[in-house]
Amino acid sequence: MLSMSRRQLMFAATGMAAAVAAPRLAFAQAATPTAGNGAFILPPLTYPVNAFEPNIDARTMEIHHDKHHAAYVANMNTFAKDTPMLAEKPLVEVLGNLSSVPDAIRTGVRNNLGGHANHTMFWQIMGPNGGKPEGEVLAAIDRDLGGMEKFQTDFNAAGGRQFGSGWVFVIVDKSGKLSIETRPNQDNPIMDGKRALMGNDVWEHAYYLTYQNRRADYLKAWWNTVNWTKIGERYTAAKAGTLAV
Ligand code: MN
Repeated sequence: MLSMSRRQLMFAATGMAAAVAAPRLAFAQAATPTAGNGAFILPPLTYPVNAFEPNIDARTMEIHHDKHHAAYVANMNTFAKDTPMLAEKPLVEVLGNLSSVPDAIRTGVRNNLGGHANHTMFWQIMGPNGGKPEGEVLAAIDRDLGGMEKFQTDFNAAGGRQFGSGWVFVIVDKSGKLSIETRPNQDNPIMDGKRALMGNDVWEHAYYLTYQNRRADYLKAWWNTVNWTKIGERYTAAKAGTLAV
C-alpha cells in the first residue's frame, strides 16, 4: 500500500480529512497561464491529489502536477529571462507563431510551453463529481462524433494508437464543430491554428504507476475523472473566441 502523500498527511494532521473533497484553491486567476506579468505560473489543482482514486492514484497526480508540469513552467521562466516576450504575450500568440521564437530556444519553447498549455487544460477539464455532458456540447457530440458511446470508443482508440508519448484531443472549431485528433510529445493544436476543447494525456507518466503498459485501461478509467461542467464552459468560450488555453 502506498504511504500517505504529503497533502493527505497535512489534511489529516489539521483535522481536515473530511474536507478532502472540497476545492483547495480558487482556480480562476491561475487558470490563465500567462497573466502578462512576465512570469509563468503553475496553476494549483482545485481538488486534492487523491480525488480520482482509484481511477488515477494520488502519487501519479502529485508527481504529474508538482514535478512534470512544474518543470515545464520552470523551464519557461528560464527562457523568459532572456526572451521576456514569451511571458508577456498571450500563450495562444506564442504557441501559434513558433517561427517567431528565436532558433536557439524554439524546440524548448515548443515542448515546454506546449506542455504548460496541455496540462493547464488537462487539470481544468478534470474534477470530482464531474456530471454528464449536456446542452450545446452534448448536441455537438451527438452531431459530430456519433453520440457519447461512439465518441468515447473512438477517442480511446485514437489515444491507444498514438505511438509513444502524446495527447488525444477533441478539437473545436469556431463554428463549434468537434473532431478527434492526436498530437505527439507536448504539441498542442494551437500550434497549427486549432483549439482543443478537451484532451487526455497518454504519456506513460500519466498512468504508469497504476496501469503499467495497460494504456487502454487508463483511457477507459479516465472518463470517470472528467468535469463536464468545465468542458461545457470551454465549448461556449471556444465559440466566443475567448478560450485562454
Ligand atoms: Mn503529462
